[in-house]
Amino acid sequence: MQYCCCRGLWNTDNNMRKLLIAANWKMYKTPNESTAFLTSFFPLVKQSTQAEILLCPAMTSLPALVDAARSRSVFVGAQNMHWKNEGAFTGETSPVMLTALGVTHVLIGHSERRQYFAETDTTVNLKLKAALAHSLIPIVCVGEKLEEREANLTNNVLELQVSIALERIDPAIAAPIVFAYEPVWAIGTGRTATPEIAQEAHKIIRNQIAQSLTPALAASTRILYGGSVKPDNAKSLCCLEDIDGALVGGASLEPKSFAEIVHNAIAGQS
Ligand code: PEP
Repeated sequence: MQYCCCRGLWNTDNNMRKLLIAANWKMYKTPNESTAFLTSFFPLVKQSTQAEILLCPAMTSLPALVDAARSRSVFVGAQNMHWKNEGAFTGETSPVMLTALGVTHVLIGHSERRQYFAETDTTVNLKLKAALAHSLIPIVCVGEKLEEREANLTNNVLELQVSIALERIDPAIAAPIVFAYEPVWAIGTGRTATPEIAQEAHKIIRNQIAQSLTPALAASTRILYGGSVKPDNAKSLCCLEDIDGALVGGASLEPKSFAEIVHNAIAGQS
C-alpha cells in the first residue's frame, strides 16, 4: 500500500472525523506562561478552522487558560482526573471539579500516568466511564512498549488496552470518545513511528472499537497519533487513512512550532 496524501480517496467515512490537534504540556508552564502562549499562538491559527485545537495544561493553569480561551476557538482539557465525584483522595481532581471550571476534554491513561503513577487498563475504564457521565470528551491513550513491539505483541497489547478501556461502555453514549495511539518508545524520544507502523496500529485500534462497540462507532471515532510529532512529520502522519489528528508533547510548548503542526496536519488532510 502507498502512503501519500490521498486520505479522502481511501475513506469516505472520515468526513465525519474532524481533525483534532491536541497539546499535552505535561508538567510545564505556569498560569501566566500558559496564557502568554495562547496570546502568541491564537493569531497564528485563528483561520485554521478545519481542525479542532485542544490545549491540555497542568491543573494549576486550567482556570486561567479556560478563561483566556473563552473568546477563542480553542478547547482546554485536563491531563488526568479521578473517576469519583469527590472523596478522601489527596491530590486528586474529580470530573465535577473539571466541568465546574469549564474544561471540556480530559486525557486518560497517558503512558506517563501508567508508568509513573501505576494507572492500569482497569482505572482507564473507570475514568472513561466517569468522563462520559460528566460530558467530558475523553482522549484514551494506548500504545505498546518497545519490548512488546520487538516481541511481536503490538496487536495483542492494543486490542487488550482498547477492549478493557471500553468494557461495559454503552455504545449509545460512546460517540464522544477519542483514542490516541502513542507508542511508548516514540514519546519524548525524537523517534516517530513510520507512517506504515502508525497506520497499521490505528487500523488495529479501529477494528477493536468495532468489536467492542459497533462498526459505525469505529468509523466515526477519532484516533490521534502521538509520539514525537513535529512540524516536519505532521503532514505525512495526518494524511493517513486512519489518523485523525495528533497528540503533541514537546513540540506543543512553542506557539510557532505547534501552529506549524496544525497547518501541516491540515495540509495532510486536504
Ligand atoms: C505526549 O506526551 O503525549 C507526547 C506524544 O509527547 P512527545 O510529542 O514529546 O513525544
